Amino acid sequence: MHLCEIQLENFKSFARKHTLPFKKGFTGIVGPNGSGKSNIADAILFVIGPKSAKTIRATRLTDLIFNGAKQDRPASQCKVSLVFDNTDRTMPVDADRVSFTRIVRRAPTGSNPDNYYSHFYINGRSTSQAQFELLFAHARLSGDGYNLVQQGDVVSSVKSTDTERRRVLEDVAGVTHFDHDIERVNRKRAQVEENLDRLGVLTTELRSQVRALEKGKEKAERYIALRDDLQR
Ligand code: ATP
Ligand code: MG
Repeated sequence: MHLCEIQLENFKSFARKHTLPFKKGFTGIVGPNGSGKSNIADAILFVIGPKSAKTIRATRLTDLIFNGAKQDRPASQCKVSLVFDNTDRTMPVDADRVSFTRIVRRAPTGSNPDNYYSHFYINGRSTSQAQFELLFAHARLSGDGYNLVQQGDVVSSVKSTDTERRRVLEDVAGVTHFDHDIERVNRKRAQVEENLDRLGVLTTELRSQVRALEKGKEKAERYIALRDDLQR
């Protein structure tokens, strides 16, 4: 499976419709500063990681809508489609090409400028964000993973401390979730140990009671035997 095409429509600096083909192998995009290279990475994140901790470089989702230029008026919605080659059926969709489209549309004027509508489509059919996540999970694609290395990620990883860098490696290796499991189990173990301590104290107390009762029982038995003797 590979990403073979990105279609952008009024997304950030991309006014109107643009199609970026990604041939098999390596595709590089070059351009002067501020020409929109990182906006393409933002477009990918916009589709694969709506809930990702990595942030699209925009304060509001509506900032992603093309906001006008000399010849072009501001748009009211932006649309990004990622088209994947699915001939190997990595994603459980019975199609050789699967397109994931996300649209963000400004809510009617007069309302809060932060308000927006968000729509999701798979191969042109309306769907949910959850369905996106499900299919991406099959392809092990995630906005939080390392499928997408953003500008500055490499520098920050070089500058990070050994512990932080190790955390990244452990994340990639999938070790982190074991750490969470270990933590959880250790908490449980501490709880069980505490219970054991409490039960130990209780047992000691009960044992001394048992000893006292045993002595009482011996005495009672002796009393019964002597009484029976006396009666006889
Ligand atoms: P660099 O080489 O410096 O990293 P870049 O090619 O990655 O640059 P981007 O950061 O992708 O450039 O693009 C920044 C440009 O996108 C800016 O000129 C900014 O004005 C423009 N831009 C961002 N949001 C919008 C928007 N909503 N509408 C129109 N243009 C936008
Ligand atoms: Mg950039």
